[in-house]
Amino acid sequence: MSISTPALVADSPGAPFTTRVLEHRDLGPADVVIDIEYAGICHSDIHQVRQEWGPAIFPMVPGHEIAGTVAAVGADVTDVQVGDRVGVGCMVDSCGECEFCTDGFEQHCTRGAVMTYNGRGYDGVPTLGGYAQRVVVADRFVCAIPDGISLAEAAPLMCAGVTTYSPLRRWGVGPGSKVGVVGLGGLGHMGVKLAVAMGAEVTVFSRTSDKADDAQRLGAHGHVATSSPAALRALSGQFDLVLNTVSAPVDIQAYLRLVKARGVLVNVGLPPENYSVRPGLLVGTSKVMAGSNIGGIPETREMLAFCAANGIGAQVEVIDAADVDAAYERVVAGDVHYRAVIDVSTIRIPG
Ligand code: NAP
Ligand code: ZN
Repeated sequence: MSISTPALVADSPGAPFTTRVLEHRDLGPADVVIDIEYAGICHSDIHQVRQEWGPAIFPMVPGHEIAGTVAAVGADVTDVQVGDRVGVGCMVDSCGECEFCTDGFEQHCTRGAVMTYNGRGYDGVPTLGGYAQRVVVADRFVCAIPDGISLAEAAPLMCAGVTTYSPLRRWGVGPGSKVGVVGLGGLGHMGVKLAVAMGAEVTVFSRTSDKADDAQRLGAHGHVATSSPAALRALSGQFDLVLNTVSAPVDIQAYLRLVKARGVLVNVGLPPENYSVRPGLLVGTSKVMAGSNIGGIPETREMLAFCAANGIGAQVEVIDAADVDAAYERVVAGDVHYRAVIDVSTIRIPG
């Protein structure tokens, strides 16, 4: 059975989106077809559509923050049923056999996980992401959305949620932890909500004070405008963990200085430029500078349960498919509060 879908398509790097019907790979025995309702706009979509990370596959249908309902399942699928509310994140397949897959870290699959878009399935066919009305996914990569989280608010959990949940858990954030979150965007606002729910005292580092009230509403205890070097210096050595979510190059050393001796700066932001770090800044106080790549499927399910238990969803602006180009500009400007989510029922095929 071949599966077609109306989709938002970028035909070349940075091109405006157009709409047309595209074909997915055929439904395999372990595959699930999802009728998508909402797709979040992650800054990674923009990096890839604009080819900021190197050569990409076009035409491209971005979108790896997907929420919808199951439309069809392959013959061998037993764990999800037609009609289930589900989410899909950054991956749609992996080898399932290597040490990382068997440990639940499919994002580090030694064969290479199949990314939801701008990737190729193991059959060589380019994958198509969530800015569409339908997607085909290996069943292991489909996560149930708990009752109580709306699909629009759940979609961004599939990337922004797990990408911030994973390092907060790995580095032991809990009651008594002091956490700094740099950049209040899609990832940043989830980092604040999750760290607060884990019991941490959270400070937001944002370029200006424009988002100070929002930071407080999200549960943050403090807000610092990074345009003031003196305000940053005053908090030197105060934080157990600083999470950098900024999509653009930053003076990473300014944020390393915020970390306590033996603490950790976790970088999840992915600008294409290098960071520069003086070794003494890490060595002198035995700090860790770490990276973190999304999260595996077991951790994604754990994050969804944590969000349901704590009443957490993303703060979203639902947009019409016709507004996606304008939304990209607003994301880059840091103007979205705090994740734009496309209502994919608004994708209209011309003629
Ligand atoms: P976003 O919604 O655009 O948020 C980024 C925030 O960074 C903005 O809201 C803004 O916060 C700040 N910022 C933007 N431009 C800046 C600049 N020139 N200087 C300083 N601060 C700036 O992006 P996102 O979707 O959260 O993604 C953030 C980054 O994480 C991207 O690079 C994305 O590719 C990456 N990412 C990584 C992973 C992973 O697995 N590691 C997963 C998903 C995304 P303020 O307005 O508060 O300053
Ligand atoms: Zn993402």
